[in-house]
Amino acid sequence: MKEILLCKYGEIVLKGANRKYFEDLLCREMKKRVAGYGDFDVYRAQSTIYIEPKNEDSDIDGAFNAACKVFGIVAVSRAAVCEKNMEDISRVAAEYIPAFLDGKRSFKVEAKRSDKSFPLDSMEISREIGGVILDSCPRMKVDVHTPDVTVRVEIREFGAYVSAGSFKGAGGMPIGSNGRAMLLLSGGIDSPVAGYMIAKRGVRLDAVHFESFPYTSEMAREKVLDLAKIVSEYAGDIYVHVVSLTHIQEELVRNCEEDYFTLLLRRYMMTIAERIAKDKGCSALVTGESLGQVASQTMMALGVTDSAVNMPVFRPCIGMDKEEIVTIARKIGTFETSIQPYEDCCTVFTPKHPKTKPELEKVLVQENKLDFEGLVAEAMENINTVHIFPDY
Ligand code: ATP
Ligand code: MG
Repeated sequence: MKEILLCKYGEIVLKGANRKYFEDLLCREMKKRVAGYGDFDVYRAQSTIYIEPKNEDSDIDGAFNAACKVFGIVAVSRAAVCEKNMEDISRVAAEYIPAFLDGKRSFKVEAKRSDKSFPLDSMEISREIGGVILDSCPRMKVDVHTPDVTVRVEIREFGAYVSAGSFKGAGGMPIGSNGRAMLLLSGGIDSPVAGYMIAKRGVRLDAVHFESFPYTSEMAREKVLDLAKIVSEYAGDIYVHVVSLTHIQEELVRNCEEDYFTLLLRRYMMTIAERIAKDKGCSALVTGESLGQVASQTMMALGVTDSAVNMPVFRPCIGMDKEEIVTIARKIGTFETSIQPYEDCCTVFTPKHPKTKPELEKVLVQENKLDFEGLVAEAMENINTVHIFPDY
């Protein structure tokens, strides 16, 4: 039996005149994501993207999992393809639907007929297919108000489809519909979640990762690239720009007051991130900070950090508790990787008494002890860019 995937889109159906632009973006992204699982026809009609395998070798389970992660899609269902006549629809329903009813007690059939030339109307189709299902699953009951499973029969332009239940899609807006931003990606729990959340609003991500070899290890870098790969399953491919802060950190330790290390380092990070962002066509920076989580995330500390840059800084985790961030990290699959214990450059040379209410003038006095521009330029001479694709 031939199975296809039907992906319903969400918010973009409200887009009026721009709708076609959003639909094209979404369709193009979907094509890219399922391409790794075989040969599929991907096309759209009636607020739905159809994913149809062209041959038996195509991995429909893989394509299904990938489709559930595409932003802009609110629901994905698997459906069996039938000929557009009641005989074939009944045959397919009797064969295909019972597996979906396993362990369930009640169902209803909802028929939709967008091809009005079909001889039966929706009510008649529902009644007939309901009977077919009751015949093959006699223990099931029909419940039209709160069924355990809703069986759908759709008579569309290209064919008829039978499906049971649907899975929640990733929601949000199609990648690329809201521009491009630079994620500051550490190996922690928060920044991959922050990247996921901004990407969900349709933003294509670039990422910058700062390392401090030999104080941070090769393994720490691998971990960050692994995280980028997991995020890319939602956000699409990501360029990760790896920048070394070793010399900057050594200069800070040698010349500046310890209490200011973290803040000064963060101003370097933001500055470098903003310069790469401009070069790559990004219009905002994204970080995983959450208000009050650590000394560098108080309101005043964030003010000092932000004053190093002009671009807007998005912090989607700012109002979230750690527990809420962890819930999302688990859902998207980054948590287990994030908790692997490798040093981050922020945790080498951490001050014992970091300033929680820093004053910008005093920070600048420390900053001016070094050749800020020179150190930034030097760090930017050796950027190592890795292009990360979703895992197939
Ligand atoms: P995370 O869990 O995301 O690492 P955190 O709570 O550990 O966050 P910090 O270490 O203070 O917080 O970092 C705050 C933010 O700064 C991070 O969320 C991330 O956006 C950015 N950041 C920190 N370290 C790095 C790094 N090595 N490379 C790139 N960005 C970083
Ligand atoms: Mg961190």
